[in-house]
Amino acid sequence: MAIVGGGIVGLAVARELVRRNPRSSLCVLEREAEMGTHQTGHNSGVIHAGVYYQPGSLKARLCVEGARELYEYCAERDIAHERCGKVIIATDSSELPRLDDLERRGRANGVPGLRRIDAADIEQIEPHARGIAGLHSPGTGIVDFPAVARAYAQDVLEAGGAVARGCEVTDVEVRARSLRLIHARGTTEAGQAIFCAGAWADRLAVTAGADPDPRIVPFRGAYLKLATERRHLVRSLIYPVPDPALPFLGVHLTKHIDGEVLIGPTALIAGARDAYRLGRMQRRDVLDTLAWPGTWRMLARWWRTGVSELRYAAVRSAFVHAAARYVPELQASDVEPSFAGVRAQALGRDGRLIDDFVFSATPRALHVRNAPSPAATASLAIARHVADEAGRAFGL
Ligand SMILES: Cc1cc2nc3c(=O)[nH]c(=O)nc-3n(C[C@H](O)[C@H](O)[C@H](O)COP(=O)(O)OP(=O)(O)OC[C@H]3O[C@@H](n4cnc5c(N)ncnc54)[C@H](O)[C@@H]3O)c2cc1C
Repeated sequence: MAIVGGGIVGLAVARELVRRNPRSSLCVLEREAEMGTHQTGHNSGVIHAGVYYQPGSLKARLCVEGARELYEYCAERDIAHERCGKVIIATDSSELPRLDDLERRGRANGVPGLRRIDAADIEQIEPHARGIAGLHSPGTGIVDFPAVARAYAQDVLEAGGAVARGCEVTDVEVRARSLRLIHARGTTEAGQAIFCAGAWADRLAVTAGADPDPRIVPFRGAYLKLATERRHLVRSLIYPVPDPALPFLGVHLTKHIDGEVLIGPTALIAGARDAYRLGRMQRRDVLDTLAWPGTWRMLARWWRTGVSELRYAAVRSAFVHAAARYVPELQASDVEPSFAGVRAQALGRDGRLIDDFVFSATPRALHVRNAPSPAATASLAIARHVADEAGRAFGL
């Protein structure tokens, strides 16, 4: 069995499979020199509680289950984490219907401890924040996701699996009794494979014989951070009431497990699937984005949102101004640039930004085609889901 991709999802899947099938031979093939280099190592570090997601969706179920399991795992393995809670704040009455809807979703999803709060409660929980109403999710937390991924890799090794770095899989040949994976260090013959390649998921799936729909379009998300002497402005996590159609947008103020307070991320279409540096372009990535009909349909629908995201990315004071709606004392001089992440966003041919997790199958292979936030939170639950699918598909 080969697992392609050593991010938090691939490693969680490998861990689950090797534990369920201790006599099997399993290897993780990762293209980079280290595990968890891409989305797993460049994100907000939040253990989401499951408030946002459509009741009945995979995200809703796997996030709530995954968060519970992740807290237990971190406690067992002594991984840095904190159940610090989050407030979602409405700043004017036009947002109240969406806040009501969010509360309904959170309750339907079984989010632990979710509570409606008023202006006084907001100030009590976050003394520097302001709003007219909100939701408090005490079960939301923060964690060191790269440390979680390293612990999963350790579990794989201890259970008898192997982990190979610097192994970019470039081709997949489907044979009668196996899959032949051609990679940077040679070839691996596998009975079955599970592809968990994040921003490159669509390419590998197509190589293995899958439909090109959905395509991954990369979105670069840059963060600012609060200057050390201003970190006290944010105790835990302060989030806006999201637009249900674009739940990942909006200015988030997030305490990080290392003590930093992040503001962001922005969301701008990127010229490369690893565009951590502003302006990085990869010819193939640009062509794949431009040649996809869904890109143009999405842009036609969301161009206004795109323009405002562009403004946030280009004009720091505009971004800080948006954050100051929630924390009025914030000023442009309080922030410094921080890191950027690249979101692997699955985009349908029809221009739909695909929200839920997507899994699919080709002969002898399963593919994780869309694992955006909260997939890091949900990694242990996703792993169980994929291992169940693998059990059915491969007769394990
Ligand atoms: C800006 C941002 C903020 C986020 N915030 C949060 C958050 O607060 N909480 C949360 O739960 N989630 C968050 N997420 C989402 C979360 O980071 C991802 O859902 C999760 O990391 C996905 O894990 P993965 O293993 O699928 O992807 P990745 O971590 O990207 O791993 C994919 C791996 O596959 C490897 N790979 C790719 N192609 C090949 C190949 N051909 N051969 C071999 N290996 C290959 C890559 O090198 C990589 O290591 C955020 C994401 C972003 C971008």
